[in-house]
Amino acid sequence: MINTNIRIGHGFDVHKFSAEFDPKKPLMLAGYQLDEPYSLIAHSDGDVVLHALCDALLGAAALGDIGQHFPDTDTNLAGIDSKEILKSVLNLLEDGGFGIVNIDITAVAQVPKLSPSRVDMLDSLCRLTGLDRGRVNLKATTTERMGYIGREEGIACHCVALIGLV
Ligand code: MG
Repeated sequence: MINTNIRIGHGFDVHKFSAEFDPKKPLMLAGYQLDEPYSLIAHSDGDVVLHALCDALLGAAALGDIGQHFPDTDTNLAGIDSKEILKSVLNLLEDGGFGIVNIDITAVAQVPKLSPSRVDMLDSLCRLTGLDRGRVNLKATTTERMGYIGREEGIACHCVALIGLV
């Protein structure tokens, strides 16, 4: 077996827009509240960026997935702030002796336009993970109007994370 102290993980998540904007469920992405008239249907706050990040980190640490740790059948978790989920995942990583090397995220949305909020979302990610800007990247893309994202049905997110034993 190759003895190496770094591990890579991938995460993907998608949430569907609700038919109408619910002011009680504002659009949360990367732990940042966007001032946009969209709400995502979710057991939690629907933060696809943080969910993809959590799954990438859990994947890298071989700790399963977000659904195992935070089942959407658990009524105690209804409406949970995804920042709390991330905090738990970061604790699990720390317990396993891991630190994050870097994370790279691609958010996929036809609407709303994410580029105006990119820096705010990045700042939020750095704050939540304790990483500096040189270790966190956030990209935003559309699907050129193709598929469910292109039909403005929801938002998806991909994340790759590298972690290492510290
Ligand atoms: Mg999710």
